[in-house]
Amino acid sequence: MDSSWLKGLIRPKFNTITSEIVMKIIIGSFIITLISSGIAYGYVYQRSEDLALSQLKDFTTYKIKKDSDIFELAKENLQIFEKEFLTNYETAPPNLYEEFDDFYFKDEFGATRLRREYFDGKILKDGISQKYVSAFISNRRTEFSNELKRRLILGYQLIARMGPGTSNRFANLHATLPENAIILYWADEPWGLNAKPGLDMTAGAVVKASLQASNPERKPVWSGLYYDLTAKDWMITYQRPVDYKGKHVITPSHDVYLTSLINDFITESMDGSYNMVISMDGNLIAHPDKLDEIKKNDGILHISKLNDPAIQHIYDQVSNVSQLLDGGVKVIVDKKLNAFISVGKIEGPGWLFLTVYPIGLIADSAQTTAFIVLVSGLTFLIVIICMVYVIVRSSVLYPFQLLKQAVVMISKGNYSAVALGNVQLPEPELHKNEIGLFSEAFRKMSQEIHNSNQLLETQVEERTRELAVANDQLKQLILLDGLTGVNNRRSFDEDIEQLITEQALFCIMLCDIDFFKNYNDAYGHDRGDSVLKTITASLKKNCGETGRVYRFGGEEIAVIFRNTEQTIAYELSLALIRGIADLGMKHGGSPLEIVTISAGFESFDPAKHKDASALIQDVDRKLYVSKKNGKNRLTFLASL
Ligand code: GH3
Ligand code: MG
Ligand code: MG
Repeated sequence: MDSSWLKGLIRPKFNTITSEIVMKIIIGSFIITLISSGIAYGYVYQRSEDLALSQLKDFTTYKIKKDSDIFELAKENLQIFEKEFLTNYETAPPNLYEEFDDFYFKDEFGATRLRREYFDGKILKDGISQKYVSAFISNRRTEFSNELKRRLILGYQLIARMGPGTSNRFANLHATLPENAIILYWADEPWGLNAKPGLDMTAGAVVKASLQASNPERKPVWSGLYYDLTAKDWMITYQRPVDYKGKHVITPSHDVYLTSLINDFITESMDGSYNMVISMDGNLIAHPDKLDEIKKNDGILHISKLNDPAIQHIYDQVSNVSQLLDGGVKVIVDKKLNAFISVGKIEGPGWLFLTVYPIGLIADSAQTTAFIVLVSGLTFLIVIICMVYVIVRSSVLYPFQLLKQAVVMISKGNYSAVALGNVQLPEPELHKNEIGLFSEAFRKMSQEIHNSNQLLETQVEERTRELAVANDQLKQLILLDGLTGVNNRRSFDEDIEQLITEQALFCIMLCDIDFFKNYNDAYGHDRGDSVLKTITASLKKNCGETGRVYRFGGEEIAVIFRNTEQTIAYELSLALIRGIADLGMKHGGSPLEIVTISAGFESFDPAKHKDASALIQDVDRKLYVSKKNGKNRLTFLASL
């Protein structure tokens, strides 16, 4: 049988099932993991972008609300001041001016100031303690009407009452009068006592902005940002001009500390982004990298002078949308900087609060997520592969190894090993699947082949036995004489050879029918044959257990006596010759008138008979002697 296909199966050129399955799973899962990572990247990118935009809007809304608070508060305080002042102005006693000197004095340079005790600390008439208020009227004002005096007292009283309540959030509360006068609640410094006598406050930009000539619409005014050397702080001044019946009577003002606010603008930012504040007219108020430069320029640093293309670009972007803001927050996608720029307006000074958020951050976050998906996917993949390996090994590889062993047995033609269960096969009970079916079918096939082999072997054995019998019969036939049925010459030769080889003890008698030619002539050949048969039958019958009769040739017959004493064999031979004569077969052609035989007798002697022909020659010579001596007799050497 050509079993090369089996060898291929046993020592396969391809990989094992396990590695094939595991390899396919690795490739498939890796592709799926990559696709998942890609989808995760896209999804997270979109989500991150949405989230970043909404966070950015929320952050900006929160910041502008938080940072607008102080300005809103300033606005509210000065509204209260205005309302209170106008009420007091209407209802206070008209002769209040008479108390003017209790409050104010004229210094040696002609400037009028609030008395020092109002700064250092004084118990007022109503028993309330008061301090930190100072006031100054330039010596440029020499005329003091009663109305002005009354207004200066009312101004002082309201500043003294409201000042302490605002000092926790504001640098100071003060009020200017168009008559070159100022009243201040300011714990840091008695400014009204220290001011130079001839100072013209109405010439300064701040106070000027409150005057009817400069501000006919009577709008509250925010000054620009400035660095206050006394307070050592960034400041901005908010002032609210108050008119009574068309006459400018007072301008309450708050100085707002800005250092912490500016720091807050910059320091409180979203991760990865930065903030900046720009005034509507293009001055840079706050920027993480430009604080020193802003300070150097006394808070008035126009972006056009900065020579910074990025800031200039941002300003160009937001200045276009600033009109659209309307209290809300706007997010611009800036392709050039690859950033989102959110813009919100800080109430009060009307500054623009900006957050620059690099879009790259979103990609970073998406990449991180995609990487996590990839890593977790690969981890999952490794776990799955290990599981698949273990499962495939126990469910596929191990049963296949068993099948392989069985196939090896079959390839060697050993079906019975499989059929009789000497080779383990996958248990169909444990593998209720194709392997179990295959195993069962394989076992059945082996059993069937084994059974038919067995049957074949039995048949072959039977045929072989029959053949052996036939062979034996044939062999017997070959050794028998056709006419007489006794052993033939071939048988005689073989037996003699074997006996000589064995150096056995045996004797031989060689007979010849007397006057047989005559008999044939007288009675015919057929009768001659009958005589031949009768003689051999008689010899066979009487030659004893140890004798065997052979037709030696023609009408010559031999008898071999095996393992028989010479004397016994000799006596038997004599009896055989007599026995033939005793048959009394009529023979007209013989002087004796009956059929007789003559014979020679010889005992095998290894010393004398070196081979069969020597023995036959010997015995033939004795037969001749019997013929010569008158026939119907036996001749033996000892008797010669
Ligand atoms: P002797 O007594 O000297 O032996 O005389 P004989 O006539 O027997 O002499 P011989 O041996 O010369 O002759 C043998 C004869 O035996 C010749 C032959 O016709 C006869 N004979 C030999 N074989 C057969 C046989 O198978 N059948 C028959 N009917 N005759 C045979
Ligand atoms: Mg003869
Ligand atoms: Mg004869």
